[in-house]
Order: sequence, then C-alpha cells, then structure tokens
Amino acid sequence: MFKKILFLIIFFTGSLAFSAERDFSFFQKKGDPSVPTLLVIGGIHGDEPGGYFAPVLMLKHYEITKGSVYIVPNLNFDSIVANQRGKYGDMNRKFASIEDKDPDFEHVKRIKEIITLPEVAFVSNLHDGRGFYRHKWESSIFNPSAWGQSYIIDQNKIEDVEFGNLDEITGKMESILNKDLHENHHSFSIKNTETKDIDESMQKSLTYFSITNLKPAIAVETSKNITELDLKVIYQLRSFEALMQVMGIEYTKNIDLTREAVQKSIDEYGTLKLNDRFTINLSDVKFATRYVPMKKSDNKIEFSHPLGSVVKRDNYYDIHIGHMRVATVYPQYFDFNCEIKSAKLEIDGKKQEINFGDIVEVEKNFKVLPQKGIRVNVIGFVGKDKKSQDNVVIERSDIIERFAMDKQNRTFRIEFYDGNNFCGMIGVKFK
Ligand SMILES: [Zn+2]
Repeated sequence: MFKKILFLIIFFTGSLAFSAERDFSFFQKKGDPSVPTLLVIGGIHGDEPGGYFAPVLMLKHYEITKGSVYIVPNLNFDSIVANQRGKYGDMNRKFASIEDKDPDFEHVKRIKEIITLPEVAFVSNLHDGRGFYRHKWESSIFNPSAWGQSYIIDQNKIEDVEFGNLDEITGKMESILNKDLHENHHSFSIKNTETKDIDESMQKSLTYFSITNLKPAIAVETSKNITELDLKVIYQLRSFEALMQVMGIEYTKNIDLTREAVQKSIDEYGTLKLNDRFTINLSDVKFATRYVPMKKSDNKIEFSHPLGSVVKRDNYYDIHIGHMRVATVYPQYFDFNCEIKSAKLEIDGKKQEINFGDIVEVEKNFKVLPQKGIRVNVIGFVGKDKKSQDNVVIERSDIIERFAMDKQNRTFRIEFYDGNNFCGMIGVKFK
C-alpha cells in the first residue's frame, strides 16, 4: 500500500476563476543514478483508465534499483474524476500554445517543466485509444486510423540524442509484448504519425513538445475496445517493463502480472482520512456512510490512493477513485474544539492507547476507559440508555449490524465528544 505517501486535499471556501480544481501528483523513484531517468505520465485523457491505473500499480509494486523512474499518474485529474477526455478541452492539443486563462494552463506549464528536467531522458505518455491500429485497413475497428494497441512515435529518430532511436526502441517493445498476448488480436504495432511533415494536430501534443525539446517520447496506447481494466493495465505494465529493459533501468516488483493479482490490486482503494480524526477504509466501505462528523469548511481530506478524490454535492460528498464513485459520505457538521487525540481501550482484556482515526482489530470484546468530560458514543450500540458508553464491555452482538461501516458488517465506530465538539473516532473491526 501507499504507506509513505499521502494525498492531501484541503477545501478552500472559494476557488480561483479559470483554474482547474485538482492538481496532479509527481513521484520520483530513484535507484542508482548511473542510468538515466524515465518519466511516465498517466491520465492526460480522463476517459482512459488503462492510462492512469497502470501508474498507480507502478507506484505500488515496483522498486527501481538502477536508474530512476518519475511518475505522474493523474496529469488531467479533473477530467479523470469527470470521466471525460478533456473537461476543459483536449489537454493533449495545448502543448504548442495555451492561453493563460485556460484552466489547464498551470498543469501544462508544470508538466513541461518536469519533461525538460535535465535528468529526464525519455518520456512515456499513457493512453487508451480507439480500436486496434493496423498498418492496412481490415475493418472499421482494425485499421490505420485506429490508435489502440500501438506505440505512437512522431518520427523514426531524433538525431544525436540518447534513446532518440524511437523506431528501434518501440520495435523491441513490440516484439517483447507480442510474445505473450491474451488474445491474438491484442497485438501491438508501431504507429508513426510523421508529425512534423503531415500531422498538424499532433504538433500540439505532449510527445511532440518533448521531442522538439530533445526529450525522446512515445505514447503507449492500449485499446478502448478491450473493456477489462485489468488487461489494459497488464499491457501497460508489460510495456513499462519492456521500456525499462531497453533503457537499462533495473527494478524489483512484488506482483505477478496475472489477471487475478492485477485486479486485486486495482480493487484496493486504501483509506480516506478526515481532519486526522476519522478514517474510512474505502476498499470495503458500504456505499453510503452517514453522520460523518465534518467541519462546515476547510476540511483536511487525505487519501492513501493517488487517484482518490472528493466531489462536493449539495449536502453530501462523492468519494472517487479515478472515475469510479466508490462511496458517498453524508456529513454531520460539528465544531472540532477538542484537545484530546487518543483514548484508552481494553481490547480483549488488554489495555491499549489508540489514536483517533485508527482502526483496530478485536477478537471478542472491547471496553472504552472513561476520560473526564468526554462522552463516548458507540454507533449502533443497543444499550442506548447509557449516555456515555464508556466503562462497558461490548461484543459484536451488542451493536446493530446495519450501523457497521463495512460491507462485511464487522467494523464499527466509537466516537468521542467534548460537549458539542467532535474529538475523533476509533474503528473497531471484529475478526
Ligand atoms: Zn488518449
């Protein structure tokens, strides 16, 4: 999981005109610096999930031992959340020129700065394209104007630049990938758009910006006609491995690229942490979570998943992982003027101090030890006549199932209040 990295979103009361809502994130995986750096960019198009879920798995499962890999998993984050190619128009046509009032302006500027970092030696831009690219017309899906299952190059070579032999590099990737396909028609080909001479619209693209700045670049396209996300991600990851192999970048990984393992990893949504005091495990949360203590504004919202995001609705929040809406949170507004940050619990008879926002495992029962002036509310506890539910041994059967946070009805909320102020919650997960 993403133990070391957290994605922080702070909601401000107002937002600037003409600027996108969400920023992309930038990660550096550094190994031995004697080998150059590969920059992988995902999510320039928001409706191409193969292109932005693959970088998530790169971040999660790969360690770079020789050379370096920089990863931007979610370049066009607002469009990903909206599941649109380009919420503010096609970002991949804004690299030759862009107006400063364009909502994509800051992001295009920043990614140009990253592409042109001196150590970046190669750029790989990830997509899901239409159909299946073929050199000759076969059908409306398999033809030269399709984009899917191809390595796109703007020209065969950039002279006198290391890794400028784009045709040979993609040729090697193609032959590695085509040795092992889930279906024969998933084969990869190289598509040379001959951008400089014949493709005016591609001259506005990210890859063309790169190569004109002497940074070799390709686009890796899986196919929109492959509907299974795990397969697209597998092809993207195998292309990533093939490219690293060609560049001499070495790595270790803790995943086998089987459909089962990749799907399992895609389904891990991580956690959502609110104001450091309330945690939701998004992988198994019930779709609707009600009465979540939040502030009226300026909530600190942290995801452990790089594609985690919040969409504010009228009286609730939709929680997204990429384009997928994975939960809805209905807030109950409180003040948060409370000093304490933890509580003592007896878990299966053993005393422990637990920080607010943590979820702990319980075998049989738990008891919350009293703190002066603090009211304890075990959500769904049957013994409602007790105003503060501390100093009482509680088993799973003492809590009404439908109040569980998770689909398995095992995780319950203990909440702590100081008068009308919310202090925090602790999750208890029965085995
Ligand atoms: Zn695309």
